Amino acid sequence: PNPPLLRGGNESNVPLARGENESNSSLPKKEKIDLGVPVFELTMNDRTISQQGTGKISILSPAELEIAEVTADPGVARTGASTDFSRMTPLPKGTRATIIGREGEWIRLDYGAWIKASEVRIVKDSVPPRSIIRSARSRQVPGWTEVLFPLEIPVPVTVQEGERTFTLTLYNTTAQTDIIRLDDDPVISSLVWQQTSPLQVQYTFNLKSAQQWGYKLRYDGTTLVLSLKHPPANTSMMPNSSAKPLSGIKILLDPGHGGPQDSGGVGPTGYREKTVALIVSKLVREELVNRGANVVMTRVEDVDLDLPPRVEMIQKEEPAIAISIHYNALPDNGDAINTKGVGAFWFHPQAHSLGMFLHNYLVANLNRPSYGVFWNNLAMTRPAVTPSVLMELGFMINPEEFEWIVNPTEQQKLAEAIAQGITEWFASVK
Ligand SMILES: [Zn+2]
Repeated sequence: PNPPLLRGGNESNVPLARGENESNSSLPKKEKIDLGVPVFELTMNDRTISQQGTGKISILSPAELEIAEVTADPGVARTGASTDFSRMTPLPKGTRATIIGREGEWIRLDYGAWIKASEVRIVKDSVPPRSIIRSARSRQVPGWTEVLFPLEIPVPVTVQEGERTFTLTLYNTTAQTDIIRLDDDPVISSLVWQQTSPLQVQYTFNLKSAQQWGYKLRYDGTTLVLSLKHPPANTSMMPNSSAKPLSGIKILLDPGHGGPQDSGGVGPTGYREKTVALIVSKLVREELVNRGANVVMTRVEDVDLDLPPRVEMIQKEEPAIAISIHYNALPDNGDAINTKGVGAFWFHPQAHSLGMFLHNYLVANLNRPSYGVFWNNLAMTRPAVTPSVLMELGFMINPEEFEWIVNPTEQQKLAEAIAQGITEWFASVK
């Protein structure tokens, strides 16, 4: 169909707001102006409809800006004013930005993201938070390289992982940079930077390896601290080592669900996802320990465990990798007979290789059907401190696959394949 024409010669796609104050050129400039509720009109084929807007329009006083300071650790930044909108890079606690809009419980920050009002405190100021950056430097702490960006104020940031790059963007920031010291480093090959627009500085880390092992962002006062994780110190890789292949490597396993409140998916006989996830996770642990790994589990019994404590455990333990073990279900109207197979889920690009490898390995070596490899924004794939993947090993509600899921011999074979897949993946990314 033809797009409806907007009245008034407006060439953009934005409907014209026709409030009572048609002109504001004579309004005083220093105070907040309330323009009231807008009425939207739409004309198509000589027919006009109008509808009252749901919010008010006001012009904020430029002399009294509202500044948001992130109090959550971290603040969840989104592309729009509801949880339906995608997550952007979380904002470290202390980040400041000017508020340029509101919708319900949400506020819009000047660099484009939205955040819940409950995750910030509001301070008034007459100047927007902007910073100059003059230098950057790095230091090494056990297991990590920290890159320090001294700023005048904690500004919003985003990061992007590439194939062999890590890009950090600082908003509301202008460079006066003359020198950056960056000595040889286990992770970083070189750092280049650019003022990409008047208020945006972008730092691109060229990396020594295609595999990235995790990152953290925090404000230490007004200094942004970016931490990049070193590859795991695998002692079996040392010359003349007789150590087992995963020696020195910490792996976190997360058996999904648990406890009386959260059974996960339920199979045809009433058998529960939480039960088989725990059985298989323990078998995987045994296989990994046999290969020399140090294995940490989020639960070892049938206990209630919410997602936030599982995520906190990943952040505290800082394992080399984290794997969440699940079995899949379908909505009530799903096709239980024809839906089956192994699924892998990743969120940060650093977890993609591990998810893809394990999926392919199980499909090829156990002759399992493939459900697919998915980018997915899940609580257990979101931790950035390590490559975090979630495996859905099969469908509880598929009668044929269910037989395989509950068979103890097959569970043992599956655990061996997962552990061997992990071992071969580590060898492949060295
Ligand atoms: Zn599950």
